Amino acid sequence: MTSADVVIVGGGVIGASIAYHLSLRGAGRIVVLERDRLGNGSTGKNAGGIRLQFSTEVNVRLSQRALPRLEAFRDEMGVDPQFHQVGYLFLITEERDIVPFERSLALWERLGVPARRLTGTQAQAIFPEVRVDDVRFATFCARDGYADPHSILQGYVARARERGVEFREGAPARAIDVSGGRVTAVRAGDERIQCGTVVNAAGAWGAQVGAMVGLRLPIAPLRRHIFVTGPVAGLDHEFPLTIEFASGLYFHRESGGVLLGMADPADPPRFDDSVNWDFLPTVVEHALSRLPVLERATVKTGWAGFYEDTPDRHPILGTIEEVPGFVCAAGFSGHGLMHAPAAGEIVAQLICGEPPSVDVSTLRFDRFARGALVVEHNVV
Ligand SMILES: Cc1cc2nc3c(=O)[nH]c(=O)nc-3n(C[C@H](O)[C@H](O)[C@H](O)COP(=O)(O)OP(=O)(O)OC[C@H]3O[C@@H](n4cnc5c(N)ncnc54)[C@H](O)[C@@H]3O)c2cc1C
Repeated sequence: MTSADVVIVGGGVIGASIAYHLSLRGAGRIVVLERDRLGNGSTGKNAGGIRLQFSTEVNVRLSQRALPRLEAFRDEMGVDPQFHQVGYLFLITEERDIVPFERSLALWERLGVPARRLTGTQAQAIFPEVRVDDVRFATFCARDGYADPHSILQGYVARARERGVEFREGAPARAIDVSGGRVTAVRAGDERIQCGTVVNAAGAWGAQVGAMVGLRLPIAPLRRHIFVTGPVAGLDHEFPLTIEFASGLYFHRESGGVLLGMADPADPPRFDDSVNWDFLPTVVEHALSRLPVLERATVKTGWAGFYEDTPDRHPILGTIEEVPGFVCAAGFSGHGLMHAPAAGEIVAQLICGEPPSVDVSTLRFDRFARGALVVEHNVV
């Protein structure tokens, strides 16, 4: 038997950021259990998008806390996150999305988010190759952009290791012991790691880790695809991460080509992250229609990973009253990379008894039982 002060289950960007922020606070012996390789979950599959443009106050505030940390990541963490701060451009083409985005614009103004409403013509002035004839309006925030998920993960892991955090790979948590109503240990392989605090940072697998302490966490694995083209003749400049909101198609520059992402609404939640190549023609059709210059490109690779989806598209964040010592930081619903700097700090603050830098009380697990969901609209 060994012992630790905190055991973190999950070695993705959320677990690594929590470990780093705990180590900054001298929170004792910290062990991160990763059943596979660090970053092999959603962290290694994502599009790297970073944005302030959310529809709920808590998501905007999490982004506002995280963004300056990503802008200063190289100085703080000694690793270049390759943050391309080219902005996010949302294209609104459907009547049904007008009012929600007008509400978001009002929220952004109140919270000091430097996002602007643009006409289609103004959007095209920023991104000349994009088709805008059906665009009712667009929103643009120049501080948004995209970064490299691996570099961000590596930054947290490297700096946390220097401060004594132990990262174990190939080390699945099998069970969590609860005694007298509170967490006492984690079982990993043949080992029992005695500890007072366990953090569930298992992403799309967060419900499985919740079940180890008898909780039913509503986190579902939603398969999401990404396809990347080779170089595109005539498209060699930077452009914003662009989202055709109605279809959920998004794209940004990637290794000289274009990264394309889109959800398949027919895909049911399940643990299958194989690539459905039959879905590619649908993505290509939408992409060619929105960015006709892509007809000069070929798709050279594709992969799929999981959104860790909750019913209101917000994470379950914080301590759990029913199980003292169990802390949840999972279910980021497709925006965990960008919120990792804030989430890691906040979870560390909660564990160390400090006031959190963002009020995340609305994201506690009990919101589902109370029917107090905080629904995020701006997710694709
Ligand atoms: C296609 C795609 C595009 C995305 N685009 C963006 C984007 O543009 N911007 C953004 O911010 N986010 C994006 N996301 C979401 C983002 O990737 C996730 O929100 C984020 O990676 C969550 O990090 P995590 O550490 O919680 O989960 P993960 O990275 O999945 O890490 C969880 C880890 O827990 C491990 N684990 C599970 N069970 C156990 C166990 N019992 N014991 C030990 N380890 C265990 C897993 O192996 C995994 O490595 C995207 C996701 C996908 C799939």
